[in-house]
Amino acid sequence: MAMHSNQNYSLKSNNSFNLKASCSRIYFPSSLAELQQLPDLSAETFYILGDGSNTLFVESQAPIIIQPKFNGINILEQDDHFVVTVGAAENWHDLVCFCLEQGIYGLENLALIPGSVGAAPVQNIGAYGVEFADFCQEIQWYEFASKNLHSLTKQACRFAYRDSIFKQERYNKGLITQVIFNFPKAWQANLSYAGLDILAKESTAKQVMAQVIALRSSKLPDPKELPNAGSFFKNPLINEADFAQLRQQYPKIPHYPQKNGEIKLAAGWLIEQAGLKGFRHGDVGVHQQQALVLVNYGSDQGTDIISLAKYIQRKVVEKFSVFLTPEVRMITHKGESSFSSLSDINPIEDIHSSRGQIDD
Ligand SMILES: Cc1cc2nc3c(=O)[nH]c(=O)nc-3n(C[C@H](O)[C@H](O)[C@H](O)COP(=O)(O)OP(=O)(O)OC[C@H]3O[C@@H](n4cnc5c(N)ncnc54)[C@H](O)[C@@H]3O)c2cc1C
Repeated sequence: MAMHSNQNYSLKSNNSFNLKASCSRIYFPSSLAELQQLPDLSAETFYILGDGSNTLFVESQAPIIIQPKFNGINILEQDDHFVVTVGAAENWHDLVCFCLEQGIYGLENLALIPGSVGAAPVQNIGAYGVEFADFCQEIQWYEFASKNLHSLTKQACRFAYRDSIFKQERYNKGLITQVIFNFPKAWQANLSYAGLDILAKESTAKQVMAQVIALRSSKLPDPKELPNAGSFFKNPLINEADFAQLRQQYPKIPHYPQKNGEIKLAAGWLIEQAGLKGFRHGDVGVHQQQALVLVNYGSDQGTDIISLAKYIQRKVVEKFSVFLTPEVRMITHKGESSFSSLSDINPIEDIHSSRGQIDD
């Protein structure tokens, strides 16, 4: 297996924040045999990397990296559905386009989401009323300890909002090699989401995809032009009692009741109401069009993004008593971190409070 082992393997083009980071070792396994040749890393810190579009390297030193290179797309046509098997390293948006070209529909609402196919199950990517889990049949997952491949059913993956077993019990215990989709031939456009409801009911999958691409391009910065990692925070879930209180104070607060009784709030709205949309501090900032996206105007240091994110978190707590937690994976040389474990990085100074015009 191709393996780089110098002290300075640059990861700058492997993270959509375009931060400067390097690792001392990186492995690129592309077959079961190569996975089985990986050294035992259980006593070391390592990180599994896809395309790095949901990854923030906090420090210039990254841990050991494993970047799976499983490729290929296989289509099996059945009477009433297609089974499509895809290597983890394939590009997500290319897969969406490829499926539509083949007359296989379902992923059109998830067009233009950056990243690899292998990362899609990890946080159960979602957009415009559709999520990865809707079309997942099974995941092929390699377990480091047993050196075996396992087939995990959709149920076994425990998909939830931006969550799955790969972020929980199976975190860093193995890696995804292939994703197996099931696309029913009976297809109906999913136009439930705001922005898609302007389309005619009989729209084709390609028309839906075109609209999704138009909407996303108008709101989200292209990481190649303005580095970012999409939504920085998850939409917070709160209980009904807390929501009732908030609603009294903010009758217009956008909210989405969940099946389990919790209420999902729009993190972008909270940030905007805290007066931070378009806020910039040095080389990092909050995107002008979409307050949930933090952008890097030219900083090399992940700590700048963390300081900004902590500042946003504090401002939102002050105003709404709601804690925003990052969706983006934050990686130091010691592995994955949370805000609380990054206690040496402080929120940026409160230089913003005097800029009252945003609050008007
Ligand atoms: C402009 C922009 C828009 C975005 N819009 C959306 C959106 O609408 N909806 C959404 O859900 N996300 C969105 N994202 C986030 C991102 O696209 C997804 O999280 C995507 O799945 C990340 O893929 P990646 O390969 O770049 O993952 P990486 O950042 O490389 O990794 C993400 C996580 O997956 C793990 N991982 C990666 N590959 C594997 C593997 N083979 N096996 C096991 N674990 C693995 C990593 O360890 C890490 O924890 C957006 C990002 C950007 C930059």
